[in-house]
Amino acid sequence: MATRRAIIVGSGPNGLAAAVTLARAGIEVTVRERSATIGGGTATHELTLPGYRHDVCSAVHPMAAASGFFRSFELASRVELLTPEISYAQPLAPGRSALAYRSLGRTVEGLGADGAAWQRLFAPLVERAAELSAIAGSPCCHPATSRRSSSWGCASCTRALPPGTSGSAVRRPPRC
Ligand SMILES: Cc1cc2nc3c(=O)[nH]c(=O)nc-3n(C[C@H](O)[C@H](O)[C@H](O)COP(=O)(O)OP(=O)(O)OC[C@H]3O[C@@H](n4cnc5c(N)ncnc54)[C@H](O)[C@@H]3O)c2cc1C
Repeated sequence: MATRRAIIVGSGPNGLAAAVTLARAGIEVTVRERSATIGGGTATHELTLPGYRHDVCSAVHPMAAASGFFRSFELASRVELLTPEISYAQPLAPGRSALAYRSLGRTVEGLGADGAAWQRLFAPLVERAAELSAIAGSPCCHPATSRRSSSWGCASCTRALPPGTSGSAVRRPPRC
């Protein structure tokens, strides 16, 4: 039987995930990348001064540990995943920044008056992290998925419901 071959264009996380999946299925895979290095938006490069490493696009990777695909690939045992104490910061005003800690409680505490809103938005997602990762790894426009996530107050998922879906099918938390 002739060898089946595939060419993947782009070595970002999705291209590499596709390449691994096809290779595991016995297909001979070639990955073509136009940049000098692999990784696409998840790469880290010295963009300014030597020794200062910048995340080109993505900087926060909870799904690297949580997604079904990466778990099946045993990513966490293949590469060392480092999680900084502060994932990102947003300057708000001179001398004042919002800091996103790994701990939701600490982040909320640091946000002062805005902490309660952050808590309302993220607590349901943190409490259901495993369920969230299963939803994120499934077809987004599937009605069952959209209904389930909209029941936590996810507005974008509610919008993904097909036209004509009864509003009563969507249970919303009272404060969303
Ligand atoms: C500013 C920013 C911040 C982000 N922050 C986060 C974050 O914190 N956490 C998170 O999870 N996600 C984040 N993302 C999203 C994340 O970066 C993307 O979801 C992810 O990189 C998409 O992966 P991909 O493989 O689809 O594409 P990409 O990562 O974009 O990879 C595409 C690859 O294809 C190559 N390519 C394109 N065209 C060709 C061609 N014709 N020939 C050869 N090679 C080609 C490119 O050079 C590139 O290497 C962020 C995105 C941006 C833009």
